[in-house]
Amino acid sequence: MIKANDPTLKSWIDVAEDSDFPIQNIPFGIMKKGKNHRVVTIIGNQVIDLFELNKRGYFKPMVVPPAVLRNEYLNDFISLGKNKTGNIRERISDLFKKGSRKLKNNEKDRKAILNDVSKVELTMPVKVGDYTDFYSSRDHATNVGKMFRDPENALLPNWLHLPVGYHGRASSIVVSGTPIRRPKGQQIPADSKQPVYGPCKLLDFEMEVAFVIGKSTGLGETIHMKNAEDHIFGLTLFNDWSARDIQKWEYVPLGPFLGKNFGSSISPWIVTLEALEPFRTSSPKQTDPKPLPYLKNTSKRNYDIDLYVDIIPENGKGKTVCKTNFKYMYWNMCQQLVHHTVNGCNVNVGDMCASGTISGPERGSFGSMLEISWRGSMPVDMPDGSQRKFINDHDTVVMRGFGEKKGVRIGFGEVSGKILPAK
Ligand code: CA
Repeated sequence: MIKANDPTLKSWIDVAEDSDFPIQNIPFGIMKKGKNHRVVTIIGNQVIDLFELNKRGYFKPMVVPPAVLRNEYLNDFISLGKNKTGNIRERISDLFKKGSRKLKNNEKDRKAILNDVSKVELTMPVKVGDYTDFYSSRDHATNVGKMFRDPENALLPNWLHLPVGYHGRASSIVVSGTPIRRPKGQQIPADSKQPVYGPCKLLDFEMEVAFVIGKSTGLGETIHMKNAEDHIFGLTLFNDWSARDIQKWEYVPLGPFLGKNFGSSISPWIVTLEALEPFRTSSPKQTDPKPLPYLKNTSKRNYDIDLYVDIIPENGKGKTVCKTNFKYMYWNMCQQLVHHTVNGCNVNVGDMCASGTISGPERGSFGSMLEISWRGSMPVDMPDGSQRKFINDHDTVVMRGFGEKKGVRIGFGEVSGKILPAK
């Protein structure tokens, strides 16, 4: 295990017990500074400017081109490769660990490098070239199959043989805090065979985790299970906003389209795969049927990360409507990536692959309102006396996620989005 994962490590920066960002995390993001952007990390509530660290010589003898750190996106930084970005994480860990005085005792440098998170604008961490959404939680796929098809044969015949996915829209992926406008579109009223056009009535979230490609491949190249993790830089929380009524009418025969591409929200920090190493856990048994050899999984490739979804009405108290876990995935990220490239499809640094809605076995662990309210038949009681079948205008949906082991909590921060009324 790399030094930065040592559970006894502490930082000279104060880190609250419930903080997602102890010195063991060191995720990466982008901060807006004047007209520029900077590559940043965070410890506790202090955002650390990597451009300033580099400029002031704290990365020496490593050579990091300044333009990589004064950049609108992390793509060039990620392209440095895992060896280099891993070394940068180790260096940051050394500089900020308890007992390290070089930077702590230099007030001028400290002031230039550290920023209180409450005063910082975090922007989209990566330029997403391509985005793919999978459908890899067995409980979610089973729930949806039960509701819309045959309860006896909820999973379609291909589902246990391959990680089902579709190509989504990269242009409408936005960072946490960006409001989401209720979409308008075609839908079929319950008592009609003719479509109408209007605001979506069944607006939903999907609790997902996305991985960011860290190493590109060429067209025609295939990624194999044994080196799939080399191509995954890190993870972010992902809310795949979904207009269920638009989706229901449009999705046959080619799959999701306008019911999905009006917006997806991500958390501003990319948590590296290395930081999540302590939370690696066994993957579900895949014996009936066995996947084809190219998808065969022989090691622990799931991650024990608790995930939460809160709905917060505009002037009311919020409620946690979902507590699930990333470990529930049937198809893991490596299998998804291997399958994605098995035909020679190339991937590029910054591309994003979302897990699909993550549902556990019980209602409280379902990752969408579609499942939690079972198509609206079981509304959720809110603290203010109102009920939710889906998401109302002015509601804010907040997703959080973290793993915790040996007193060290590695988290993602949050992804939040407020729904604005349709225009
Ligand atoms: Ca989805």
